[in-house]
Formats: sequence, C-alpha cells, structure tokens
Amino acid sequence: MLKRKAFEERLAERKKVERREDRRLALLSVGLGAAQLLFLRWADKHVVRGTRLAVAGSVFLIYMVLIAVLVWRRERKVRALSPRCPQCGGALRGMSERVALATGRCDKCGGEIFGLEESETPPPFEDVGARRDRP
Ligand SMILES: [Zn+2]
Repeated sequence: MLKRKAFEERLAERKKVERREDRRLALLSVGLGAAQLLFLRWADKHVVRGTRLAVAGSVFLIYMVLIAVLVWRRERKVRALSPRCPQCGGALRGMSERVALATGRCDKCGGEIFGLEESETPPPFEDVGARRDRP
C-alpha cells in the first residue's frame, strides 16, 4: 500500500516530467516545422517541378512520424510515473488522482490507496488502556 507522502512525491515528479516533456515537444515541433518550411522553400528553387509534390509529401510524412513518436514517448514516460491503485492496478490519473487525494480511495474499485504513515500508526493496546485510566 502507498503512503500518502510517497503518492504526493510521485505526482510532483510526474508533473515535473510532464512539464519538461511538453516544453521539449513544443520546441521540437516548432523547430522541425520551421525547418520543414525552409526546406520546402529551398526545394521550390532546386527540385524539378514534377518531383516537388513527392518531396514535400515525404518531408511532411517524416515530420508527422517524428511528432507522433515524440508524443508516444512523452505519454509512455508520464504513464510510467503515474501511481496505480494497489488493489485493482488501475492508473490514477486526472479525476482518479484527485479522488484518490481527497478520499484516499480508488474511484474504480473503492479500495484503500494509502497505508498509515509511521506517525499515524495507533499506539499499542496497553498504551491505550493506560491513557484511559488517567484522570
Ligand atoms: Zn482500484
């Protein structure tokens, strides 16, 4: 069972990776898009008219495949860092993550997600009895 603190640390780590990957994806897609436009401008002058469409189409397809690979990689990294329910194994992302934080339970199976922290463990039975005897 996860400790609440470990769960929150994992979420923070995931958000950090998400932000970094989003920034990387934005920079690469804009950079590659601009490079593609420059290449097409160059190809307009240097490539024979008949093959221009095939060249432009190929470059565009390569661009789309690269972006798809980057998005897939980002999603895989983020999914690997997402906490899972210890009961049913369901990913706790988006609304499930917020429900887990608010209630301590999985929104899919209702199982408990967090174990007690060291400081929250109840005192041994004898201690409870001793406390009750006090005035
Ligand atoms: Zn569950």
